[in-house]
This record gives sequence, C-alpha cells and structure tokens, in this order.
Amino acid sequence: MAKHQFQTEIGQLLKLMTHSLYSNKEIFIRELISNSSDAIDKFNYLSLTDEKFKNEEWAGKVFIKLDKEDNSLTIGDNGIGMNEADLMDHLGTIAKSGTKAFMENLTGDAKKDSNLIGQFGVGFYSVFMVAEKVDVISKKAGEEQAYKFSTDGSGEYEVTPVTKESHGTVIYIKLKEEEKEFLEKQRIQTVVKKYSNHIAYPIMLNYSEEVTEGEGDEKTTKMENKTEQINAATALWTLSKSELKKEDYVEFYQTIAHDSEEPLTYIHNRVEGSQEFTTLFYIPKTAPMDMYRPDFTPGVKLYVKRVFITDDNKELLPMYLRFVKGIMDSEDLPLNVSRELLQENKILANMKQHSVKKILQAVKKLTGEDEKQFTSQYNKLIKEGIYTDHVNKELLLDIVRYKSSTQEGMVSFESYISRADSEKKVIYYLLGEDEKMLRNSPLLEAYNKANIEVLIMDDKDEDSIVTPMIGQYKEWELKDITTIEAPDSKTEEEREEIEKEFKALTDKIKEVLGSEVKTVKTSTRLIDSPSCVVNDPSDPMAAMAGIFAQMGEAMPEAPKILEINPDHEMIKKLATLDDTSLFGDLAWILLDSARLSEGIEIKDKGAFASRIASLATKVI
Ligand code: ADP
Repeated sequence: MAKHQFQTEIGQLLKLMTHSLYSNKEIFIRELISNSSDAIDKFNYLSLTDEKFKNEEWAGKVFIKLDKEDNSLTIGDNGIGMNEADLMDHLGTIAKSGTKAFMENLTGDAKKDSNLIGQFGVGFYSVFMVAEKVDVISKKAGEEQAYKFSTDGSGEYEVTPVTKESHGTVIYIKLKEEEKEFLEKQRIQTVVKKYSNHIAYPIMLNYSEEVTEGEGDEKTTKMENKTEQINAATALWTLSKSELKKEDYVEFYQTIAHDSEEPLTYIHNRVEGSQEFTTLFYIPKTAPMDMYRPDFTPGVKLYVKRVFITDDNKELLPMYLRFVKGIMDSEDLPLNVSRELLQENKILANMKQHSVKKILQAVKKLTGEDEKQFTSQYNKLIKEGIYTDHVNKELLLDIVRYKSSTQEGMVSFESYISRADSEKKVIYYLLGEDEKMLRNSPLLEAYNKANIEVLIMDDKDEDSIVTPMIGQYKEWELKDITTIEAPDSKTEEEREEIEKEFKALTDKIKEVLGSEVKTVKTSTRLIDSPSCVVNDPSDPMAAMAGIFAQMGEAMPEAPKILEINPDHEMIKKLATLDDTSLFGDLAWILLDSARLSEGIEIKDKGAFASRIASLATKVI
C-alpha cells in the first residue's frame, strides 16, 4: 500500500483545521455539498454533450447518511468522480496557490478565519475540524477502476484501488468523539437549509429513527431506516422575484460565495425577447481576499438552460467587476459552446453588456451605510473601470467617490457640482500620495480662503492615470490645480505691478536654482506659506497627460515653476538681503521646502540638511 506525504502547506493547513478553527465547524457540510454539486454539474454537462454518456439514465443527487452506532457521517454524490491522479492532485497537493494565500490571510480570529475556507478553495480540508479519519472513495466517469484515499489528517495519506459500481464520490467521515451533534437529523437539516437549500440537486438524508408500534402492553420500539429530501433543489435564479424573499437570496448567496455575511445587494433579472437569459448577481459586503491576486477565482458561473458550463472564465464580466458573485444562465447559447471561444460569442457579449449596466445601476442606487461600504471596498476597482470601460463611463463616474477639501468622507461628482459655481463649471482637484500632506498643501491656501472645494486625490497610482482620462463630468471640466492660476481677487494690473516689483528678486532666485526650476514668479495662490511649486499649464507636458494616462503611465516629471508669496515676511526680507551665500541657501530652501510640503521627493537631501544646519548656526 502506497503511503504519501501531504505537501508541507497541506500538512500545516490540516493542523490548523484540527486544532485552531473551532468556530463555525458546521460549514464543512456546506463545503462538501458544494464540491458534490460542482461534480454533479460537471457530469450533467457530459451527459448532455458527450456521446459516451448520452444514454445513461441519470439524475444528479447528493446523499448524506448518519450512522450513530458507527459515529460516522457519509456524504456522497453521483457526479464526475476522481481517478487516482485527481485524488492525489486535488486532495494531496495544492493545485492552485489557494492554500498558501489562505494561510497568509489568517487573522488568528477563528470566526473570521473559518469564513476564509471556502473563498480560497480549501473547502475539502474543513472536514478535519470534525473528523478523526476520512476515506474518500471515488470513481471517475468513463473509467473502470475506483480508488480510496484515506487519511487521519496527520500528515500522511494512502491511495488504494477499490471497487465501486458507478461514477461519483463518497466521503466517509469518522467523527471525533466530541462532534456527535453532526449525527442529529435536526442539526444536519438546519445546516443544509441554511447553506445549501438552493443547490440545483436534491440532497437525500438517510438516518435511523426510533419508531413505536402497537398500543399499551403490545407497544414495541424499533429502529427504522428513513430517507428524505432535505433541500428545495430548485435553481433559485429560475424562480420569479415575487416568489423569493430576501432570506432566500441571502441563503443562496452564502452557498455560492462561501460567505457567512449577507451580501451588500443583489440584482436579479430575467430578459425576454430576441435573446433570453437570467442573471443573478451579488455584491459581497467585504471584498473577496484574492481580488488583487492574478489567480483570483472568478465569482460568476455560466449556465446554459440550467446546465452548468463553466466557473473559471474570468471574462464573463469585465475584470473590474471581479468582486461580483453570481450566475448567468442563457437560453440561446448552444450547450456545447466552446469554452475557448466564449469571448467572441455575440450572445454572451450582449448578456455581458446588459449585466454590467444592471450591476452598475444597482450600485448607483446604494445609499447611506451601504454606499459607504461599497466605496470603502471597491472604489479602486471603479477607477479601474473608468480607465477600461468607456461604454459605461457615465455610470462609473456617478459611482466613483473622492475625498474633498471642504467635506467629510467621500463625495461624488454629482454632489461636488451641486455645491460649486455653476457659471464656471470646473471641478478642481489636487493629486498626490498622502492625504494629510495634500490637505496641508500650500496649493490649497487660496482655494480654502475663497471657499472653493477641491477634490483630494490621494490614490496616486490610480488617480494620476485615471483622472486625466476623465476630462469632463457632464459639462464640468476637471482641472488639476497645480496647472492653473489660483482664484484671486486682484486685477490683472495689480498682478503685473507686483510681478514687476519683485522682478529683481525672482530673477536672482532663478539664477541660483538654474535648471531645477522652469521659472520663478510671484504667486497669487499663497496665504501662509512663503513658496510653492506648480506645473506650467502652457507646457506641452500638461496637454500630454491624457496620452500618458491612456498608455497607463504617470506623466514624466518636468521642471516646475517656483512661486513665491510676495506678502510673506521671508520674501520681503529676501528682497533686500545682501549676503550672497545666505541668499543662495535660502533660495534652495524655498524650493526644497515647497517640494517637501507637496510630497515631492527632493533629490539631494544631504544638501538640504546641511543648508538648514548652516542657517541655524547663523541664527543662534
Ligand atoms: P475547491 O472546491 O474550492 O476547488 P476543495 O479543497 O474543496 O477546493 O476541493 C479540491 C478539489 O477536489 C476540487 O476542486 C475538485 O476538483 C476535487 N473534489 C473535491 N470533492 C469532490 C467531489 N465530491 N467530486 C469530484 N471532485 C471533487
């Protein structure tokens, strides 16, 4: 008999399941039923499309048997089954990186951690929360030999040939002494109702019950073996909305998403006419853990006339909606639609377009806490959408949220324009990496004084690429405040006057700073700070921002304009300073401290520090 070692990570996982995850143990039933349901889905497809299986009399079912005498629970199915290699690959090693990701994401909070089990595709192993020993007996459809995979979860497993009549899988679970509750019919019924009521196949529960016969002295009791169906076994999405309650939707969500939370919202639609299809989508309250992993598990399953086709197609919905869970069921696609060619399929493309609209419209309708929750989890992805999905740009722009210089929390463009000057029709924004720095930026001073709201975009990686692409919201133009003149009450003449008055000083500073700055000029945007750096709006680089955005690149850094505050004490003094070496140091400090306060890296930090030190020495 061949003994095998579990892969190291699986060994660790088993230890964890056995010793640490003691809350919510019942989900092992959900996980095994979900695996059975997937296996039945797969065979169902074969039985309808593959000549070899077309004549087989078959109806997919899940079986559960409770045996109190033996202290065991058995879960079986007549699905596609596994052969020797499948057993070893799927149960003995990690086919995907799921296990590793699961381990990395553990929080130590048993309840939260058990919620992660289904999400990372490590569902099978949850059985070790309750099992002392597990035997998986399986026969793959179309093959002769069946195999048994046995383990006590301690690091080794065994695979041996056995006989089994028909295809499918039976999982025998010898329960730990303290887990007897899972032998109670009531307990199992409740768990199945809670998590698996609407899987599309019947779940048959087999159990023994004491029955009493006769009257009075004749009364005898005996054990009777009974079998009954314990779930609704209707594909939930095929029912009409009026037949379904919120609880039904929530239960079904928890089954398909392996989530213990309620979804944020659900979107159920049936389309009739030249094309017919049904979709049911859910938005999880908490973003799936693997959302930013390249090997994320797609959340949407494709069905054709209730027959499962695929759950690993990442493009049933656009990538930016990868957090959506649910079902798309088409009446028009052929059953044997090639999975590779799905992308080019017109029927599917139409279904996809329709689905995206419905999902985004539902998101747009979220309000209050739900809206906040959505933003906290998915705002980044909505920005990804703005960047990639031009067809739905308007809807996406209604959904995306930003921080604001005058408002608490996150604001929409719609609410921004309701507060802003409708003559000018400009949406002002400031880009950077750090919220606090942006809020304290000298560049905001004039806007704050004039009580003009500026959007604070501190998600630099995304925003510097996405925002220039937005261009406009409705008729309102988006403007980066570093590239425009600030609001100002001075007239053109007054400005020119000041400019002239400080010309000698600005020229002298430019001479010191050389090519580090494009020009030096007096500022209209500063109140408290002596200086700031801004982009040159007439620089072609600014006009090219959109192009760089389209290429997915941030704009290359070009020399900026140094603006000085003519009303600031330091600037006034600088204008009359004779000490050349001190003037040089101060000019550099004006530039570098402006850069620092706007979150721009200064190249020569050592020089900056030594100038400060030399200055301090002079003052003391
Ligand atoms: P997941 O189901 O998320 O892939 P699991 O750890 O639950 O992760 O299962 C691992 C794999 O084992 C499944 O993907 C499937 O290929 C196989 N498997 C598990 N249970 C069954 C079953 N009842 N019938 C056929 N294959 C199964």
